[in-house]
Amino acid sequence: MGYNCVVLVKQVPDTKRITGQAMNEDGTVNRAALPAVFNPEDLNALELALSIKDQYGGHVTVMAMGLPAAAQVLREGLYRGADQAVLITDRRCAASDTLATSYILSCGVKKLNADIVLCGRQAIDGDTAQVGPQLAEKLGLPQITYVENLVKLEGKTIIAKRNMGNGWQEVKSTLPVLMTVLDSANEPRVCRAKQLMKCKSAKCRVEVQEAAKSDPSIDVDGVCKDLEARDILIHQWDLDFLQADLQWCGRDGSPTKVHRIQSVVLAAKDTKSIEPTQGGIDAMVHELIVDHTIG
Ligand SMILES: Cc1cc2nc3c(=O)[nH]c(=O)nc-3n(C[C@H](O)[C@H](O)[C@H](O)COP(=O)(O)OP(=O)(O)OC[C@H]3O[C@@H](n4cnc5c(N)ncnc54)[C@H](O)[C@@H]3O)c2cc1C
Repeated sequence: MGYNCVVLVKQVPDTKRITGQAMNEDGTVNRAALPAVFNPEDLNALELALSIKDQYGGHVTVMAMGLPAAAQVLREGLYRGADQAVLITDRRCAASDTLATSYILSCGVKKLNADIVLCGRQAIDGDTAQVGPQLAEKLGLPQITYVENLVKLEGKTIIAKRNMGNGWQEVKSTLPVLMTVLDSANEPRVCRAKQLMKCKSAKCRVEVQEAAKSDPSIDVDGVCKDLEARDILIHQWDLDFLQADLQWCGRDGSPTKVHRIQSVVLAAKDTKSIEPTQGGIDAMVHELIVDHTIG
């Protein structure tokens, strides 16, 4: 029968390569100074969707909410084997916290009649792991979080194994379902050469418009039609298309307020060697309690 899978993928700054210059004076991340990458666990979510498609047939859509630059992770999703890509981009999404992000994504997913919605467990920049569960709630779907393995998929029933940190649990659910996937779930496949050749010119409308700014001979409508005919147009949706309620989007829809952002830079003098003995550990715990770091 085949399953319709929608994978939420986020473009994130490569936090492994944060340097002094990658932080702004006010402690916020200087996104311009950091290479942008595919959020690692979203690659595992995509791999799970692609393996479901390999085994049972169906269709895989990758969807991202972000700036036009996020089209790059969608292209990468297509190179790896996704059938379709959707970019939700709109200035009114700016300053969205996880609640607004999950609302906007839920409006997008509703358009796609998904059997299985997949997210990474966590994004490496925001790091909250909230978007998947919030999205399930907004879509009214059962959720299986921390998925490490797909045990069974038959008809409208799925059994997945979740890693709870101190043990495993098998959870059975009916479809449609939302799952958040761990990095230990699988080894993401590499980009396929054939797909790369087919999709290397995949673009969304705003990218074509950007190119037309420096080359006025580019006919934006014509190029988009051509990309669509070749099945490599990245769909671009805005909040009007999604019929989103603006009070739940962007700053208005974001109850989280950031009071202070602190950049913690550990200098060598701040490190301390602890004897690997019970006495050394007891002394360290005592010190941490005394200076109120813990307890
Ligand atoms: C007050 C406030 C203001 C903010 N303003 C901005 C801003 O102006 N610009 C900005 O870029 N960020 C902003 N953020 C950060 C933004 O809220 C988070 O990046 C976003 O909500 C996702 O949360 P997370 O990174 O913790 O994702 P997690 O909950 O850790 O992500 C879990 C999974 O959800 C999916 N997912 C998460 N986000 C997306 C996405 N955008 N597209 C597709 N899938 C996704 C992925 O599958 C991911 O693995 C702001 C945050 C706060 C608190």
